[in-house]
Amino acid sequence: MLQEIRAGNQDGWQKLVDRFQGRLLAFARRQLPQTADADDVVQEAFLGFLQTLAKFRESSSLETWLFQILRRRVADFFRRRGGRGDVILCGELSAYSLSCDRPGAESKDHSASWHVRREEDRQDDYLALTTALLGEVEKLKRDERFEDLQVIDLLLFAQRRNRDVAELLDLSEKAVALKKHRFIEKLRDALPKSDRDAADSTADDLLTSLWADFRPSCPKRTTLGKFQLGTLATNWDEYVAFHIETLGCQFCSASLDDLAELASTVQAGESAPLRDRIMQSTVGFFRPD
Ligand SMILES: [Zn+2]
Repeated sequence: MLQEIRAGNQDGWQKLVDRFQGRLLAFARRQLPQTADADDVVQEAFLGFLQTLAKFRESSSLETWLFQILRRRVADFFRRRGGRGDVILCGELSAYSLSCDRPGAESKDHSASWHVRREEDRQDDYLALTTALLGEVEKLKRDERFEDLQVIDLLLFAQRRNRDVAELLDLSEKAVALKKHRFIEKLRDALPKSDRDAADSTADDLLTSLWADFRPSCPKRTTLGKFQLGTLATNWDEYVAFHIETLGCQFCSASLDDLAELASTVQAGESAPLRDRIMQSTVGFFRPD
């Protein structure tokens, strides 16, 4: 699909839009109460995808990359409305999500330099750390060490405090701290030299940011489909239930919304209007000069 798009083949582009539009729209609708706004940011995200196609590293999945772009577009939307640009990734979307000026209690207010460091151009600086992080989480999943994964999910992704995590998972605070310490130690060598000796909170911020960008613990879409059908093995079924209900992952909740909608609206053509808009707004990328 990517090769077709890079070669300027519009059919390849249409296939990509068709494949990802539903889950992106479901995510945007969870963040933005007005359907028209959600359509707009999804359209902007697809446009942004084509504009940054040259920067796409195939080390991350297309879905991951598209969600990163969409998150930035949603944040821009909130900022244009005078808000702080916080996009809620974990936890229940409550009344806060209906207001553009969300209180910042759920997310840390990073410094300006932090935002500069996070520019996608600089992601290469953290390639070693990203690879190590994805590898460690993959090991936890493979060995079905779901309790460890839940602790890390809640601490790094949801930014919950040790005490809350202990309470939620019925563990001691000491056990939570130990699991976290072990996990971070495995990654320390992969931290860029400038961050290696920094305070733990710097490493935490870095890992939280990478977690939000690369979502290492998010189950695959096929796994989410099986979860919906109730055909997962018990261990996995329990983990996915935690991921959706306790962690409140908004990406996976959006994918589930989309899967449910796909299952219920078999009639083709329902999503055609937005698809047509996206195709029209991006036609310039495929027209020969
Ligand atoms: Zn997820």
